[in-house]
Amino acid sequence: MKLKHIEKTSLGFFPTPLVELSRLSDFLGGPKIFMKRDDLTGLALGGNKTRKLEYILADALKQGCDTVITAGAAQSNHCRQTAAAAAKLNLECHLLLGGVAPPKAQGNLLLDYIFDSKIHWTGSNRKGEDIARIFAELKAAGKKPYLVPYGGSNELGAVSFIDAVAELQQQNKGPEFSHVVFASSSGGTHAGLILGKKIYNKTFDLVGINIDKDTNATLPFDQLIEQLVNGTAKLIGLDYTFSKNQLILNSDYVGDGYGIVGSQENEAIALTAKLEGILLDPVYTGRAMAGLIHLIRSGKISKNDEVLFWHTGGAPSLFAYSDDLTFSQADVC
Ligand SMILES: *Cc1c(COP(=O)(O)O)cnc(C)c1O
Repeated sequence: MKLKHIEKTSLGFFPTPLVELSRLSDFLGGPKIFMKRDDLTGLALGGNKTRKLEYILADALKQGCDTVITAGAAQSNHCRQTAAAAAKLNLECHLLLGGVAPPKAQGNLLLDYIFDSKIHWTGSNRKGEDIARIFAELKAAGKKPYLVPYGGSNELGAVSFIDAVAELQQQNKGPEFSHVVFASSSGGTHAGLILGKKIYNKTFDLVGINIDKDTNATLPFDQLIEQLVNGTAKLIGLDYTFSKNQLILNSDYVGDGYGIVGSQENEAIALTAKLEGILLDPVYTGRAMAGLIHLIRSGKISKNDEVLFWHTGGAPSLFAYSDDLTFSQADVC
């Protein structure tokens, strides 16, 4: 079947590296562990949103928009990458950030300012509830705004992770992975990987580690991913229907909720740093790696498996979380 071609604009450097984490694997006495380094996409300190924005902002340009608007948490990696991409593409960028302005800008927020984005603080509205109002205000002011969805997770964003599976397939000279483990939050990465797995006949289990308790979501997360997969299949002309019953979404590691850093994230960040010289972030990849480590220790992923951890980025927020991070010398012998 010929799939529909969707245009994208170049924002990052691909393929991102595929590396083996042999010291972490030895330390855990576990399976071979590989990592797909989407923290190195190259756009403003990298991350998985770069892939999505290549498709989403191509659409914004095609529609003749001059302004983009999106939303997220104060330490949103998505907002930071959107701000950088907008700068490169000569688009004015409006960010709706949850909470109130902190006394000092750090991490992603600092970068948002450096990229000259216009920041609107939205208090307890963390997921873009105020977007319609600001969108209307921008229009009334004569701008042509384009709405970039929360987390870059719409059908266009998801398409980029179909490409990512093709990219991985080209790079992987070894046996097929048994599991692909990654942080799942707004669903676009997960949905795209599901479709990439289908299109390229991959056999790995796609293990999304849920990082958010998602208490005020309008749609249960599994339903949202199901809709996104099926909507994206339709967009590209793929005859496929996905059911949420097929979804692997592990919510065992959400801890005290979004962005609340506990001992599991601290251990995962410390181990990956000390053994591999690779930085994870406290909100997403630290939690997802904690999940992977626990799945290995509890035997749910066995020594004979061959695992890929998809590093989705996020390390710039480490600086903003310095009060929550510990530096125990006892984690690693
Ligand atoms: C956004 C993000 C994710 C989650 O990706 P989704 O496509 O929103 O599920 C994971 N890790 C990092 C670092 C992110 O910024």
